[in-house]
Order: sequence, then structure tokens, then C-alpha cells
Amino acid sequence: MTAARERMVRGQIEARGLTDPELLRALRAVPRHVFVDASNPYGDEALPLGAGQTISQPYIVALMTHVARPESGWPGARVLEIGTGSGYQAAILAELGAQVTSVERHAQLSEHAARRLADAGYDGVQLIVADGTRGWPAGAPYDAVIVTAAGPSVPPKLLEQLSPEGGTLVMPVGDRGHQALTVVRRRGDEFVRRVGEPVVFVPLIGEAGFGE
Ligand code: SAH
Repeated sequence: MTAARERMVRGQIEARGLTDPELLRALRAVPRHVFVDASNPYGDEALPLGAGQTISQPYIVALMTHVARPESGWPGARVLEIGTGSGYQAAILAELGAQVTSVERHAQLSEHAARRLADAGYDGVQLIVADGTRGWPAGAPYDAVIVTAAGPSVPPKLLEQLSPEGGTLVMPVGDRGHQALTVVRRRGDEFVRRVGEPVVFVPLIGEAGFGE
């Protein structure tokens, strides 16, 4: 599995231009096979994780992590993830040294993720079962917010909970079929938005997401 992981990092991540040593170290450290039951957990593809949901392709996890990086770095950063899924993205953030809160609407997925995170040695991740389109005000302000499901627009409560000192949100925004990775950086009351790569994610379902 270590050899497969090394091939993933070189062939899928570094080869596509993500070369931040800290990020590559985290991708080398987190055992992705603990988080997905698939014959090729290190393949260049999204994989099913149960309850009709999918874990993103490794490159997309790496890209979202890269663009959400706080100016002051990951260690000690407060990070909110919406869509715990398997727990893999949360593990990457924890490996980088962030203080992670991750919200999932499916209780069963959250329970599985809790077990997998513990098995992989990431005990410090706070898992919450709730509608993540409302964010998690108790842990705000966040230096980074990573939404791993696609919504029609950025939920206003997630913007409110971003740190005014450069807090960064990344989220796929679009319709149910295709989206663009959208990045919002907050400085005081100013929100600067950048629209990037085309992506396909499962829908964000909730008050400020898509309907059931
Ligand atoms: N980040 C995950 C993959 C997430 S897939 C990983 O690393 O494995 C998207 C997840 O978002 C699914 O588990 C889905 O149940 C969840 N989701 C969808 N709408 C949500 C909402 N409103 N709040 C919280 N989680 C939501």
C-alpha cells in the first residue's frame, strides 16, 4: 500500500503541478485504504463510499486542500469541513496539523468515519451530525472552510463563519450535474471570489443547498 500511495502522489499530484512539500507529506502519510473499501483505493478516480455518496479523486482532495491553505499555514488553523463522508479529507487536514470540525448529515457515514479516523490514529477530529449548510457557529471563526458537496450557491452562514483575517472557503458551486470549484477569501467585510476548475460532486442537501 505504501508503494501504491507513493505512485499516487507522484503520478496524480506532483505530475499535475501540486508540489507543496507539506501537502505531499500529508498525502503520503494518510492511509487512504483505511477510508475506502475498493480494490484500488489509490486509483485516479472518485470511489463509492456508501449511502450513494462518493469520496473525491485524490487530486481533487489535494487541490481543495491546496487552495484553502491559510496564509499562516495549517498547524493550529481552525478548519470546518462540510461533508465528512469517509473521513479521508478530514484526516488529511488533521495530518497537516489543523484543528478540524467536520459536519455530515448522514449519521451512519459519520459513525463509520469516526471509526476509520480512530483506526488511522486521528483522534482529534470533531465530528458533528447536522445540516452543514448552516455551518457550525460554535467553532467559528474558521481559517478555512472546505465544502465537499456541490451546492447552487455558497451558503451565507458559511461566509459569516469565515475569519475576517483572510479566512478562505472552497466549494463546488453549480447545478446538480456540473460545478466549478469556487474560492472565497474574506478580508474584513470584503469577500473576494474566484471561480476555478470544472468539477463534479454529489449534491449538498439542506437548508441552503439542494432539496432532497
Ligand atoms: N469529504 C468526503 C467526501 C464527501 S462526499 C471524504 O473525504 O470522503 C459528500 C458528503 O456530503 C456526503 O457524505 C453527504 O452525505 C454529505 N452532505 C451532503 N449534504 C450535506 C449537508 N447539508 N451537511 C452535511 N453533509 C452533507
